[in-house]
Amino acid sequence: MATQELPSRAKIVVIGGGVGGTSVAYHLAQLGEKDVILLERSDLTSGSTFHSAGLVGQLRADPTLTKMNMYSVELYRKLQQSDTPPSWRECGSIKIASSKERMEEIRRQIGWAKTFGLDLQEISTQQAKELFPLMDTTDVVGGCYMASDGQVDPSQLTQAMAAGARKGGVKIFTHTRVLAINTDRNRIKSVSTDKGEIECEIVVNCGGMFAAEIGRLAKVRVPIIPMSHQYLITENFLPDDAKFLPSLRDPDNLIYFRQEVKGLVMGGYERNSKPFTASSTSYDQIPADFNSKLLPEEWDRFEEIATNAAKRVPKMSEIGLKNFINGPEGFTPDNEFCLGETSVGGFYVAAGFCAHGIAGAGGIGKVVAEWIVGGEPSMDLWHMDIKRFSEAYNSPKFTLARVTENYEAYYDIHYPGEERQSAREENKSPIYQWHKDNGAVFGEKAAWERVNYYLNPNEKLDESLKPNGWVGKNWHPAVSLEHFATRESAGLFDESSFSKIKITGKKSGEFLNYVCANNVVKGVGRTTYTQALNKKGGIESDYTVTQVADDEFLIITGTAFLNHDKGWLEKVAREGNFEEVEITDITKQLACFGIWGPNARKILQKVTNADLSNQAFGFMHSKIIELGGVNLRATRITYVGELGWELYVPADDALKVWLLILEAGNEFNLRPCGYRAIESLRLEKGYRAWAGEINSETNPFEAGLGFAVAMKKDNFVGKQAVERLKDNLNRKLSALTFDDIKDVAMGNEPIFVNNSVVGRVKSAGQGYTIKKAIAYAYLPADIAKVGTKVEVEMFGTKKTATIEAEPLFDPQSERIKS
Ligand SMILES: Cc1cc2nc3c(=O)[nH]c(=O)nc-3n(C[C@H](O)[C@H](O)[C@H](O)COP(=O)(O)OP(=O)(O)OC[C@H]3O[C@@H](n4cnc5c(N)ncnc54)[C@H](O)[C@@H]3O)c2cc1C
Repeated sequence: MATQELPSRAKIVVIGGGVGGTSVAYHLAQLGEKDVILLERSDLTSGSTFHSAGLVGQLRADPTLTKMNMYSVELYRKLQQSDTPPSWRECGSIKIASSKERMEEIRRQIGWAKTFGLDLQEISTQQAKELFPLMDTTDVVGGCYMASDGQVDPSQLTQAMAAGARKGGVKIFTHTRVLAINTDRNRIKSVSTDKGEIECEIVVNCGGMFAAEIGRLAKVRVPIIPMSHQYLITENFLPDDAKFLPSLRDPDNLIYFRQEVKGLVMGGYERNSKPFTASSTSYDQIPADFNSKLLPEEWDRFEEIATNAAKRVPKMSEIGLKNFINGPEGFTPDNEFCLGETSVGGFYVAAGFCAHGIAGAGGIGKVVAEWIVGGEPSMDLWHMDIKRFSEAYNSPKFTLARVTENYEAYYDIHYPGEERQSAREENKSPIYQWHKDNGAVFGEKAAWERVNYYLNPNEKLDESLKPNGWVGKNWHPAVSLEHFATRESAGLFDESSFSKIKITGKKSGEFLNYVCANNVVKGVGRTTYTQALNKKGGIESDYTVTQVADDEFLIITGTAFLNHDKGWLEKVAREGNFEEVEITDITKQLACFGIWGPNARKILQKVTNADLSNQAFGFMHSKIIELGGVNLRATRITYVGELGWELYVPADDALKVWLLILEAGNEFNLRPCGYRAIESLRLEKGYRAWAGEINSETNPFEAGLGFAVAMKKDNFVGKQAVERLKDNLNRKLSALTFDDIKDVAMGNEPIFVNNSVVGRVKSAGQGYTIKKAIAYAYLPADIAKVGTKVEVEMFGTKKTATIEAEPLFDPQSERIKS
């Protein structure tokens, strides 16, 4: 807009005029934000948006993302009625299964679509053929159809949202390039552009594949890599009177189609992917003039897709091509968006849309605008939160390897317990080699190698508990042996990857009692389980806090949550004027070993002179003890429902301590155990897992965690909200059991009472001691009664489950306190 002069001040600056930036600006305006500027270095829709294929599918593997995409459709329908219609066409979509396992996956998706009220229907091969007559259905097993999916013109959509944003007061400046992002005490201060500086409070990085480059201006790592993505457009060949075709996805063959005028668009995800400009030794360096440009055609990489397409739609080998598009797009290391406030206060990102940004844009704009205005996410956005990426993603090599693996596996079926193959061995326990030498099978979490379970070649393994169907694909019988060893004698667990955060400073106690819902200042040597709530009373984090000294505390939280939980602590400190409190990550300084089981005390007592008796060392107490000449912190706590301790050992002494305990445990058959056993043990005991049963959308009272909220405290974040919520609960987290231990759910399955959907499974697994399969779900308060029978649909079949009293194991906690 040449006629406008660039203001020197604005509250919010959005960078990027693609579908992402215009949607964020549109929704900010909808929320009443009047002082918003959008800056685009070239023309609107000159980034990835202009060369998009424009398919809009709603059902995704993540419930939140599905809700966001459903909102996108709602918005595009509405915009279609405006005076800037985006050519939204609700043509429906088909997904076909070219394998038995894919059909099972489709049935599972149909199940959980019911929990959203999505109109996803199973269709026969014949029905698929009727809907898309060009298809050869030779090896098609079946499929599903969603009438409300569609397609949109990405450029027109961007212009429509830009028009809506302008109407709401947003000022849009094209040909204005952001050159620097300036901060003051880790908060946004201004942006410098080639047309002048703008002082501002909030910057939103909607840079698409350029988002990593924009992030670097504020010293923030945004792990997005531009990947080349290709599709072709055929000449017109469909008869004028032909019915408009639904989109068609055939993931087993890596391909998708949609109708374009009277021809077809056909694209897919190549198995031999290619990054654009990024390499394993350098971050992306996209040319400064890369706008409204495409990459050269790469037929050799597209060959497999073209061959598959001609097999599925034989007409493809007969008709001519009008256009071949090779355009780069920003991909993240896990194919999910990269959203939210970064480690710099007021610096948000909404980018990395992984070739589903047109489908996602409406929802993305909405949730990010709400996040900005509300200061916290309005939904559980953990799977899309930039803070899910650990420090490992600072490495271009690590990031590229992960992005490549996930791009190429975009259309694959993802089985439970699946592990990533690329970019492994980044972070290791100090005793990693011992695990490796002793039969450990490793999994990966947040770039840490962790023991899933150990293989012992001399042990007889029993496959009889293997879950039904493909849930059992990555299951291993060793896990139940580790489970029983812990329940019957003792297990030794290496939890060194736990995130460890030190809080120091005179006001550290006051600060923590403000962030945490529980009272965590109980005196030196006391450990407290707590949640940190958001303003709506949702659980932002949960962890344990140990008071180490008058003004020093140790927070222990999950491996994957370091950036998220530390980020939340920093945010509350920043906004609550607790800036003198120091928040330090000390994860790698300490190993952490858990020893749990009825014989844990006897074993540990053999190697320390410290008095470990119940009287001298009570539950939720923490002390420095000496073990084999090593001073270490022992905390009496458990995540498996057994007597025991967590030991925080200086990393250099870790092996010595581990071996000493193992030796002491010999006579008790102490067994080294892995994370899979922990999962089974904790499910039986009903210990909640953040991002499992609890998250920012669930409150402590409905989650059965009200005991950890100190309502008597004067004030803490979220107190007013939980005061309102606690006596008005309309749902409750419930434990369900299945009599057949092999009926294992995977999550998101619909739960029925009298054929009506009443909830969806949050988490599930096997309880070896109670000999049942377990699932947790939020159910309406009037249904969540002990003894009630419900039905859970797994792969199209309804299985009966019973709501049980919690916890399912050791309800009096006698074992923990013994
Ligand atoms: C070939 C292909 C096919 C696709 N098909 C589909 C599909 O069928 N369905 C679907 O849902 N998605 C699809 N996508 C994905 C979708 O197009 C993208 O996710 C989406 O367009 C990304 O939008 P964006 O706003 O994040 O990025 P962009 O459109 O790239 O916008 C980012 C903007 O930031 C600007 N910018 C960068 N640096 C600066 C700076 N320093 N100052 C100011 N401005 C700056 C850039 O100029 C650019 O305009 C496809 C993508 C490709 C490549």
